[in-house]
Amino acid sequence: MIAKTKIKVLLKTPEVVGIGNDVKVEGWVRTKRGNKNIAFIALNDGSIIHSIQIVAEVANFDEEILKQITTGSCICVEGTLVNSQGQGQSVEIQAKKIEVYGTADAEIYPLQKKGHTLEFLREIAHLRPRTNTFGAILRLRHAMAFAIHKFFNDKGFYYLHAPIITGSDCEGAGSMFRVTTLDAVNPPKNSDGTVNYNEDFFGKQTNLTVSGQLEGELAALAIGEIYTFGPTFRAENSNTPRHLAEFWMIEPEMAFYDITDNMDLAEEMLKYLMNYAIENCYDDLEFLQKTYDSELIERIKSIINNKFERLTYTEAIDILEKSGQKFEFPVSWGCDLQAEHERFLVEKYFQKPVILTNYPKEIKAFYMKQNDDGKTVRAMDVLFPRIGEIIGGSQREENFDKLSKRIEELNLPAKDLWWYLETRKFGTAPHSGFGLGFERLILFVTGMANIRDVIPFPRTPKNAEF
Ligand code: ATP
Ligand code: MN
Repeated sequence: MIAKTKIKVLLKTPEVVGIGNDVKVEGWVRTKRGNKNIAFIALNDGSIIHSIQIVAEVANFDEEILKQITTGSCICVEGTLVNSQGQGQSVEIQAKKIEVYGTADAEIYPLQKKGHTLEFLREIAHLRPRTNTFGAILRLRHAMAFAIHKFFNDKGFYYLHAPIITGSDCEGAGSMFRVTTLDAVNPPKNSDGTVNYNEDFFGKQTNLTVSGQLEGELAALAIGEIYTFGPTFRAENSNTPRHLAEFWMIEPEMAFYDITDNMDLAEEMLKYLMNYAIENCYDDLEFLQKTYDSELIERIKSIINNKFERLTYTEAIDILEKSGQKFEFPVSWGCDLQAEHERFLVEKYFQKPVILTNYPKEIKAFYMKQNDDGKTVRAMDVLFPRIGEIIGGSQREENFDKLSKRIEELNLPAKDLWWYLETRKFGTAPHSGFGLGFERLILFVTGMANIRDVIPFPRTPKNAEF
């Protein structure tokens, strides 16, 4: 029996198997061409962007079997690994035996032809992993997720599993999806006509989390440095190329970090991830660059090689006001920055990533540390070319009285936050953290333009088919 080999091993390190030796590979047919004497099959198994060429002498095979080998079919090939005569590949397989696992009727297989639009591929999200594009994206997603865990583990951070179902609805990051087992038509009612959530599964109203931060803080204020990496949910009806209703977020939270330590960590992490992609995913990046974005690799390297520009929100507003640039949304001190403003600062003005700090407290969440000016909080947003905000974070307010007062001012339900406030009552400590949107990171590193194309199964308004 011949041992199975991944195509990546054959193409990258053929010496592991050895030229002239027999191999066995399994995968999906990308193309088949040839003539009446010989067939060339490009076979891909997902281990690498490239396909290996299978050479089959027609005379050696049952005509029926060869007919079944069409684009999209799945086959197993045994044969001899040989140096390739053709251009563009170093080795190929001289087939001795082919088994067809699954056919793909050329008349109806949706990926029969090359060059489909990304919009069309979204409509066949169940099959798009079979394309080179989505193979590359899925491998990059994996590599980035792995690199994130490695980065934090190497630094001594602990991976914290924050809950996905939460009982608080005041995390301040947009509308939430309700989680309930109550009857949708006839829910139990209180005497005043409102729904009686005491009867609900958890005995109270619950939602899908918008962020693991508050729970992350509980752990950071006990074991020092933690990060969460999980799905988060936002029921905002924003149909933009940068928003999903379900997305993954990485949220480190660190005791004894001030805002500068926080910025340093964010910058180091993003540079580490860019570097990891270059070192480990170069073939996929080259493919994406060639196919979609001619400046991709250069842009990734520019993150590694540039020190991020750090300035305050107030300084940024000043630059924007004096820029003479026409914006769709006008700028003035106090306004929330739109993607167009963020991208002007990053792409036009500084031409490198930017970290903005000290935002007006009115446009930021209740838990951010208040500055002495009474107007701003110690927030930090990291802005990237093409993306705008990729990270949002802050130093947290550790003072019990200031935090309680802010919660009161904003009319937040303090009774639902008692457990959060207790961290400030017992052994409070200066601490900081941030949230990195995983899909925004993947958007950047793949050069894709739409966030629906960097997650296997996008959840957006009116879309949850696959
Ligand atoms: P934005 O202003 O871009 O809508 P936000 O300020 O609401 O984002 P935060 O609450 O700060 O976002 O979340 C932290 C990070 O999560 C953001 O910096 C971004 O990278 C990512 N993110 C936020 N909302 C979404 C979303 N709907 N889809 C994908 N990623 C998101
Ligand atoms: Mn934000």
